[in-house]
Amino acid sequence: MVQICAIASGSNGNCYYVGNEKEAILIDAGISRRQILKRMKMKRLDIRKVKAVFITHEHSDHMRGVRVLADTHQMPVYFTEDTLRNTRHQHRPENIRLFEAGERITIGGYTVFSFSKNHDAADPVSFRIEVNGISVGVFTDIGKPCVNVKHHLENCDVAFLETNYDERMLWEGAYPQYLKVRVASDKGHMSNDQAKELVKELSPGKLKHLFLSHISADNNRVEFALDTFSDLKERINIIATSRYAPSDVLELAGITTNL
Ligand SMILES: [Zn+2]
Ligand SMILES: [Zn+2]
Repeated sequence: MVQICAIASGSNGNCYYVGNEKEAILIDAGISRRQILKRMKMKRLDIRKVKAVFITHEHSDHMRGVRVLADTHQMPVYFTEDTLRNTRHQHRPENIRLFEAGERITIGGYTVFSFSKNHDAADPVSFRIEVNGISVGVFTDIGKPCVNVKHHLENCDVAFLETNYDERMLWEGAYPQYLKVRVASDKGHMSNDQAKELVKELSPGKLKHLFLSHISADNNRVEFALDTFSDLKERINIIATSRYAPSDVLELAGITTNL
């Protein structure tokens, strides 16, 4: 069985869990170790199974807790060289593994595909994880979705997809103009509508479960994101994520390969 959960999702912290009976990996660790452990315990997810953490980019909402988490539990942390160079010293763990965007990394039964994306960081990447025959993508912090995002999303059974802002709330909201422009730019974040367009463009069939992710506290509401996707509910299981609590744990049978 494969379990998939957003431990935290939003602009104050991101951490995504993919695990099977034996092993698990985390994508990003943008909340404290204490919070990660507390939330995993709430969902009966075992930290001892986590074999590695993969970092998407250097923004603190993606790596605030990584050093303490990885050093305490002796986990390797995967960075690209440019992301590491732009990482503050207080966030650098002991056990660092470098990779290049585009590389495919194997850990136990997991294959992790990395790829470049558009975002205002040094070397932003996203990941698609294959385990037990199930393909899970983590696609947040994306300005304009590029061919890489489209290609990997097309190959997902499950995806965490950014629905950062509602267009109207952003433009009518309290952010200073420069920040509004930054959020909406090709290197900022994806709106509810952009995410929906992206999913609609996919050839139907493979994507069955979609976690609406990295929802802004200031420029969006969970209900607005859910509403945007309401006409896709028939064919895709839409799950909301939250900055305050872990999401529901999605459990999929998958293929057991070690029998
Ligand atoms: Zn972020
Ligand atoms: Zn970011």
